[in-house]
Amino acid sequence: MNNSILILSTLISVTLAASVVTIKQVVDKSTSELETTLNDADFESNLHERYDLQQLGIKVKDDPTIGNYSEGDILLESPKKFVEENNKLGRNAIRQMYRRWPNGEIPYTLSSQYGSYARSVIANAMNEYHTKTCVKFVARDPARHHDYLWIHPDDGCYSLVGKTGGKQPVSLDSGCIQVGTIVHELMHAVGFFHEQSRQDRDAYIDVVWQNVMNGADDQFEKYNLNVISHLDEPYDYASIMHYGPYAFSGSGKKTLVPKKLYRRIISTVTRETSSEG
Ligand SMILES: [Zn+2]
Repeated sequence: MNNSILILSTLISVTLAASVVTIKQVVDKSTSELETTLNDADFESNLHERYDLQQLGIKVKDDPTIGNYSEGDILLESPKKFVEENNKLGRNAIRQMYRRWPNGEIPYTLSSQYGSYARSVIANAMNEYHTKTCVKFVARDPARHHDYLWIHPDDGCYSLVGKTGGKQPVSLDSGCIQVGTIVHELMHAVGFFHEQSRQDRDAYIDVVWQNVMNGADDQFEKYNLNVISHLDEPYDYASIMHYGPYAFSGSGKKTLVPKKLYRRIISTVTRETSSEG
């Protein structure tokens, strides 16, 4: 590339970065909240491809799996209680059929408090599902859809697991407006738990309990196969549903460490992935 093209392209990207995205294009809580759905323009917009929300002073989560730092991102009174109550009866997919979405179709509505930037990022996250999976997010039609996701900027990032019935909250506040975080929360809504909650996780990963912050033991709960199904999939360290190594650390040290046998495989995979990018 010669110098003049380089200068020109730098100027264009600087101008774009400066011109896009105000805080109100992310979340504007001063407006009244209505239920809306995404439109074609949201799906076609590529606003999200060139913006770092930290420039707006928004504290984005560096680990997309964490949600509200102290409480995790699965909306349950207590994961333990949930498992106990559902013992008769969710790769980590929830087993109860009534918790699954019929036909892989998930109706949703979206808060009008989201601005154009957030709408474009949410559309992009849904598009990940539409291009890579059989799950379809569809605009809620009140005449047809009783059960649906209500995506709104409540407090942090959280979701329930699977279909719970009626207007089911998914919270994505401004710090959660990143494609990876949204894909993660929507995975919970689809019916998936965290990867390290798998019944067989102790064969793959160690929880370093002495580094886990007080009161966060629940975040490392395992679920038995009455609650979840592994769907015959192998344990996936790279899953978007797997906590990062420092999740819920009280000491600043790692809370999750892969078993020695797998460490070399993981570092090879990571190297290959990063050299592809
Ligand atoms: Zn999660």
